[in-house]
Amino acid sequence: MSRRAVMLGVLAAGLASQSLVAVAGDLPAEARLKGAFRRAPENGWTYVHLEGSPSEIGFQNGYLLAPEIADLQKVFALELQHDNHKDWRFFRDAARNMMWPHIEPQYRQELQGIADGLRARGVKLDLWDVVALNADLEWGYYVAYYDKLRSVKPPASSAAPDHCSAFVATGHYTRDGRVVMAHNAWTSYLDGSRWTIIYDIAPAQGYHILMDGLPGLIHSADDFGINSAGILITETTIAAFHGYDPNGVPEFVRARKAMQYSASIDDFAHLMQEGNNGGYANDWLVADRKTNEIASLELGLKHVTLARTKDGYFVSANFPINPQLMREETNFNPNDAGNSEVCRHRRWEQLMAEYKGKIDVEAAKRFLADHYDTYSGKTEASERTLCGHVELSPRGMPTWAPPYSPNGAVQNKVADAALAERMSFQAAAGHACGMDFLAAEHLRAHPQFDWMKPLLRDLKAYPWTTFTATLARPSAATASPADAESRAADPADQLRHHHPAGR
Ligand SMILES: [Zn+2]
Repeated sequence: MSRRAVMLGVLAAGLASQSLVAVAGDLPAEARLKGAFRRAPENGWTYVHLEGSPSEIGFQNGYLLAPEIADLQKVFALELQHDNHKDWRFFRDAARNMMWPHIEPQYRQELQGIADGLRARGVKLDLWDVVALNADLEWGYYVAYYDKLRSVKPPASSAAPDHCSAFVATGHYTRDGRVVMAHNAWTSYLDGSRWTIIYDIAPAQGYHILMDGLPGLIHSADDFGINSAGILITETTIAAFHGYDPNGVPEFVRARKAMQYSASIDDFAHLMQEGNNGGYANDWLVADRKTNEIASLELGLKHVTLARTKDGYFVSANFPINPQLMREETNFNPNDAGNSEVCRHRRWEQLMAEYKGKIDVEAAKRFLADHYDTYSGKTEASERTLCGHVELSPRGMPTWAPPYSPNGAVQNKVADAALAERMSFQAAAGHACGMDFLAAEHLRAHPQFDWMKPLLRDLKAYPWTTFTATLARPSAATASPADAESRAADPADQLRHHHPAGR
C-alpha cells in the first residue's frame, strides 16, 4: 500500500471531517510555508512569523519548531506522569475522546497542520500528541475531576497551581494616562526554560497577533499577547481552583480564539465564557488601548466577575477576588498571612500606590524584578516575592511545589499603549532580577529533584528585548503602524465579516 493510501485510510477511519486537511497535507512544504520564517535566537527567545489559513499556520508552527516540539513533548510527558500519576497515553486518549469533539473546525485544522508539519520534518508525533500538548495547562483540572468520579484521591501535585504575577493600569496611575500591562510567568524551570517562543501570527481571518508561548501550541499558555485591534491580554491562575466540565470547550481553544478575534473587552469576555470548561481557570487582565479601558475577568466555572475601569489598576497574583468563588470553587485560605498569593497581592497594592502617576514600561520592569517580601519585611527572593524563586524557599508552595523545587518566575513581558500600537512588546527570558538558575548545581544540593535531571536546563537571565510583528502581505511590507490601525479601524465590521462562528 502506498504511503498516500495509508494516510487516506487513517483519515477515513478517524478524521472523516478533515478532508480539506488531507488535500492541503499533500501540498509540498514550500507551498504551505508561504511567508513564514524563524529567526535565530535573540536573548533567549525564538521569534517565528506564521501566516495564512489555519492549516498553513499550523503546518508552519510544526515545521519551523519541530525539534523544540519533540523536546517539549518529552518534558510534558515526564511532568504529567510525575504530577498526575498518568502516562502520556491517558492524555492522548482524553485529547481524542473528550476534547476533540468540542474543538471548532478552524482550530482542528491548525492542530492537524502542526502534526503535518512535524511529520514533514520526520518527528513521530501525531494529532493526538499535538492536542495533548496544547491542553497541558488544563490536564491537572481534568485529572482532579476524573479521579474524583472514580473515588480516587488525586495526587497533591495535580492541584491547580498558583502561577504568575501581573498588573494592568490606566488613567491617573500611568505616566502617560494610557494603558500599561506586565506579566511574569511562574512554572517549573523544566518547562519554563522552554517558554521562549515569540509568536507573530497573521491569520487569514481575525486580527494579527503577537504573543509569547511554547513550541507547538496554538495559544500562548502563559497568556501574554496583543492584537492589531488594540487589545492587550494576560492572566494569572486562580489559586487552588477545582471544577471541570468535560463537555465544555478546552481553555486553550477559547484563549486562542479570544486573542485572535477580540476587538473590545466585551468581545474578550464573551469569547472566554462561550463554552467555558473551567480548565486553567484564570483571572484575566485585559486592556483596550483604543479606549484606555482595562478589565479583570475572574473566570470560574460557576462564578464569573468582570470588573472594568478607565482610571485605576488591576493586580493579579493568583489571589481569588469574588468571595463566593473563593468559598465554592477553591480551597484557598486567605488568612494565611505568609502564603505567596497574600504576600504578592499586598506587594502589588504597595507598588501601585507608591508609583501612582508614574507607572510606565520601565517601572513595570522593576516590579517584575521585585524581591521585597511583605511578610518578613526584608528584600529576600522567595515564593513570596513578585519575582518568584521557589528554588530558594524552605517552604515551597504548599499547593504545587515542594521546598527548594525548581519553580518560579521564568520569563517576563511588558507592553504599553505606544508599544502595542506598533504591534510590539518587550520581553526578558529568565528571572527579571538577573539571577541565573543553574541546574547541575541545584540538583547537587537538592537531589530529591533528580527525576528532572535528564531534561532540566539552566534558566539564564537575559536582558529586555523588543519584539515587533512582521506585516504579512508583501504589498503591506512598508506600511506604517497607522495602516495597521486603519485595518482595525472598524473592529465590529471586521468581526462581522471574518468571525467564523457568525456571532
Ligand atoms: Zn528574582
